[in-house]
Amino acid sequence: LAGPDDFVARVGADDFGFLQSISGNTLPPADLADRIVTALGAPFEFGGKDAACGASVGVTLYPFDATEDERLMQNAELALQQAKQRGGNQFRLFETNMAERTRNHAALDSRLRLAIDRKEFELYYQPQVSSATGQIIGAEALLRWNSPDRGMVSPGEFLPRAEENGMIVPINEWVLMEACREAKSWHRMGLGPIKIGVNLSPIQFQRVNVSALVVKALSATQLDPRCLDLEITENIVMEDSESVVATLRQIAELGATISVDDFGTGYSSLNYIKQFPLDRIKIDQCFIRNMIDNPSDHAIVRTVANLGHSLGLTVVAEGVETEAQANLLKADGCDVMQGYFYGKPMPAADFIAMMRASRKLELTA
Ligand code: C2E
Ligand code: CA
Ligand code: CA
Repeated sequence: LAGPDDFVARVGADDFGFLQSISGNTLPPADLADRIVTALGAPFEFGGKDAACGASVGVTLYPFDATEDERLMQNAELALQQAKQRGGNQFRLFETNMAERTRNHAALDSRLRLAIDRKEFELYYQPQVSSATGQIIGAEALLRWNSPDRGMVSPGEFLPRAEENGMIVPINEWVLMEACREAKSWHRMGLGPIKIGVNLSPIQFQRVNVSALVVKALSATQLDPRCLDLEITENIVMEDSESVVATLRQIAELGATISVDDFGTGYSSLNYIKQFPLDRIKIDQCFIRNMIDNPSDHAIVRTVANLGHSLGLTVVAEGVETEAQANLLKADGCDVMQGYFYGKPMPAADFIAMMRASRKLELTA
């Protein structure tokens, strides 16, 4: 791939530099980078055995990205890091905002790391209501970061980064323990049995033994396993079926339940529903948002509810914001409702007050 005017050099342990002078008949830089990745990714024979290695490439252009050599090397290094972070065996072209993004990431990383130690994470609870009785039967635990310099930060702003840098593992371990502890305290107050829903991340399934975490949280808090619901998404299911099935079976054997979150938004085959020990499906908010005006969204909601019921699953509707939606969902047979119409995610103290008020109503009725 190197022409007579190009240089190839080893610049670090496993870092190589490729300096290409662009002329009329050289390959465009992206094509060259792509060919290098493909060539180095090809299997080869080594000592009589099949071997393979891979490469990631970062590309920067003189004089567009920088004119000093040191700067150019830094740019290439940043682009290389991005290629590696995206899973490797690919190339990335340098972009001017990369340096800033990397700085922002590094700052967020160190603040997140401190946040665990400084106990800045908090759980909010959103009520789940039975459509048959109108009673609060559960709550979903939703993570909040109470950051001293940024106030209450919602998960959309830091969870994607926490998934990228692996911090999601200790954070979610804390969430699971804290949610079980809180739910147990409600039972002790005589408010139970309330089912607590905890969101799991695909990264946890890749990196740690999730069923061992569940065992640990249940035994440390003495929460009745039937009061714990674990929410997984369709992509968890799709990733590495065998080990995921095994983990979910272990969790189901403990007595905890499993919900499929954001149902209908993933690109999964329906085949997994049979294989997995599922208890509930949560119809994604996007179908419920427009179901009143949009007949095809309503048709999807009804079809999913029917599918769920014929498989013996409990059907949960998420993002219910209006009475009209609630009525329609009840008519369609949704068993459990969750959304702003029934209550926004709130601090534990507010949720306890809400449960007490609704129990009192029942007693006076
Ligand atoms: P999700 O699991 O789908 O959670 C529901 C989200 O919808 C929550 O956003 C909730 O505040 C919001 N929501 C609930 N009812 C309504 C409604 O009626 N209308 C509208 N417009 N929104 C509603 P939130 O709390 O910002 O959480 C966002 C996402 O972050 C969650 O989506 C979940 O994927 C993730 N997440 C939250 N907590 C955790 C956690 O502890 N661990 C992991 N791995 N992910 C979490
Ligand atoms: Ca959820
Ligand atoms: Ca959801």
